[in-house]
Amino acid sequence: MKYTLIINNFYDNVREQLLKLGHFLSENNLKRDDGYAIVFHKYSAENIQALDSITELMPVFHVRYVYSNQYVPEICLDYLTTQDNGSSLYLFIGDIWGNELCARLSVRLKGLCITDITSLCRKSNLFLAKKKICSGHILGSFELTGEPCLVSINKSYDEAASPSHSESVEVSYDRTALSTGYELQFTPVVKEESFTDSPCILVCGLGLSNKEHVLAVENCADEINLPVAGSRPCVMNAWLPVDRLIGVSGTILKNNLAILLGVSGAPAFYTGVEKCKHIISINTDKDAPITKKSDLAICGDCTEIFTKFSKLVKEEYQHNE
Ligand SMILES: Cc1cc2nc3c(=O)[nH]c(=O)nc-3n(C[C@H](O)[C@H](O)[C@H](O)COP(=O)(O)OP(=O)(O)OC[C@H]3O[C@@H](n4cnc5c(N)ncnc54)[C@H](O)[C@@H]3O)c2cc1C
Repeated sequence: MKYTLIINNFYDNVREQLLKLGHFLSENNLKRDDGYAIVFHKYSAENIQALDSITELMPVFHVRYVYSNQYVPEICLDYLTTQDNGSSLYLFIGDIWGNELCARLSVRLKGLCITDITSLCRKSNLFLAKKKICSGHILGSFELTGEPCLVSINKSYDEAASPSHSESVEVSYDRTALSTGYELQFTPVVKEESFTDSPCILVCGLGLSNKEHVLAVENCADEINLPVAGSRPCVMNAWLPVDRLIGVSGTILKNNLAILLGVSGAPAFYTGVEKCKHIISINTDKDAPITKKSDLAICGDCTEIFTKFSKLVKEEYQHNE
């Protein structure tokens, strides 16, 4: 079975990538002679000898070095899409770039993709891959029926890989990935003040019923400089961005005050607010679990009460100015 390794030589970890890939190939009985490697690199013709040290470590026989003047995923994807060497399997190292290329190339090649695997074997017409799931507590088995199959290998799959030196390697060079169609633009990232730094934070729950209510509450909160976050249903309904999720699956707050609107106080959520110094909750159900866990529990409609509350705070601000 033909397979292809995709290697990124734009970063310093190429030796590490090769050692891990080499170890993975031998552990999973992938024959060296069936393997191709496509290595994206930045060395111009005068500096091409810089590639010798990695050629020595190649765990496959056929190697193609592809020059590009800059690392842009689109350039690699455009190139790889045109290079059909009949491989049934493509392997990447499961780091940021490897996982991205693996998933995106699988779409372009209409193949199957699985990232961060720890082992792989072929059984008649399917690939059987294993990867850690549920925060690493369970080893999941995945059957992939169809070709090509694109996988990335968990980057901490084998910490103690030993070097696999090649006796002979067939090397070819290709400059066709050089593209003038893409321009890199660097925009300085301005660090936004994190919502977790604010003394007070507003957390919306499913009790707000819809996006319009969340928007209304957000507008009021904005006027009094309150950041807004949400419980899981709020985020899953796309009423708020995912990075605003509070709870075991998201952010654990330690703000001075958390105001909770229409949140029941399920354990998975409560873990995210219990470290706040004070909790105020507004809920129509006086028996909701959050009531007993709040310093102040208000029974009533949260949108109505919060709108009035924010008006009062705004007036107080103006009065003090
Ligand atoms: C593995 C796992 C991980 C999870 N991780 C998280 C997590 O990180 N964060 C998280 O939030 N959840 C998480 N959950 C889900 C969690 O268990 C709860 O389902 C979720 O927190 C409930 O969100 P809620 O309180 O907004 O909604 P609900 O539980 O439905 O509560 C809505 C509340 O709003 C009240 N209400 C209704 N109308 C109004 C109104 N007009 N005004 C005021 N109150 C009103 C209701 O009385 C009710 O108490 C996880 C679950 C699992 C299984």
